[in-house]
Amino acid sequence: MKVFSKALNQNHQHYFQYDIIDSMDIYLINNPVDFYGMNYGFAAWLLVDNKNGINILVEIGPAAAIDIVQDTIETLGVKKIDFILLTHIHLDHAGGLGHILKYYPEAMVYASEKGRKHIIEPDKLWDSSVKVLGKRLTDAYQKTIGIPEKNVLKDKPSIEGLSIIKTPGHAPHHETFIFEREGVQLIFCGEAAGMIYGRAERKLVLGDGIDNEPDFIYLYPATIYRFEYDVSDNSLKKLISLAHDENCYLFYSHYGAAEDGKKMLEANHAQLVFWKDMIEKEVKKRIENEENPLDMEFLKEIAFQLMKSDLHLKDYVHYREDVKRAQFRYILNSVYGIADWAIRNYHKERA
Ligand SMILES: [Zn+2]
Repeated sequence: MKVFSKALNQNHQHYFQYDIIDSMDIYLINNPVDFYGMNYGFAAWLLVDNKNGINILVEIGPAAAIDIVQDTIETLGVKKIDFILLTHIHLDHAGGLGHILKYYPEAMVYASEKGRKHIIEPDKLWDSSVKVLGKRLTDAYQKTIGIPEKNVLKDKPSIEGLSIIKTPGHAPHHETFIFEREGVQLIFCGEAAGMIYGRAERKLVLGDGIDNEPDFIYLYPATIYRFEYDVSDNSLKKLISLAHDENCYLFYSHYGAAEDGKKMLEANHAQLVFWKDMIEKEVKKRIENEENPLDMEFLKEIAFQLMKSDLHLKDYVHYREDVKRAQFRYILNSVYGIADWAIRNYHKERA
């Protein structure tokens, strides 16, 4: 995989181009969000399908990033968008949908069946996001607007080589898009296989601080509230069983692409088991000592322990302070999700 990157200006407007197959140009368009350490780390994927003359976006990003996404699409000489595919409808993936459709009113949107009504009428989703994420972050994402029903596909779009796989876990309605072209598998996994900084993309995010290629790609589970172990475990196993041993690439919404897709899926699965076992053991001790297992200081301590013992997190200590702050927040959210599940599971097993 050859990766080219280009900065368009100083305004965090940046894209990557991935040279993998002939019939499709693949771009990551950076979605800057003006919030601590979040100017990089959110992706909209643009697929220019030369063979069939169609252009596809996988994820579009939050409302705040849409002008930049559109400007980048135009800079790349792409005049129309035919399809928009959403892995799930969280604000950081789909919040800008109503805004991008103003530029591309003919685009047809695919979201999972459970998500469709929320992209047409997003007020409930917006209100619950403000509650869960907090007003400061949702203000940084900017307000979502609804889209016309006529733009919403009721079925899977017919795009050459595309299959859509249900991968609940990070969100109950999460789906994964797999393209099979020229004997190559391109898997757009959203957050079903965790979060990374890809080898090429991390230099941009982290500046000149880290030059060495890591032995392990920075990776962690995206196991937010309300996490269900069996559901995430099943989704990952399903993806592992579908992934080819070779010529399989993963495209993460947070953030970048990885070769050795099957190995990356297996690594995330092993990591999920490792985190689950560790957190479950600590939560059990807390419950039996009659201490609060969701105490924030306790959860932070677990996150620090994981950072020391999980080789996929070893680069964290080298990150810039603002990036560290954002990353720690995400890692803590994932620890919280698993701890909350472990408490429910503890009581369920003893009921
Ligand atoms: Zn996300």
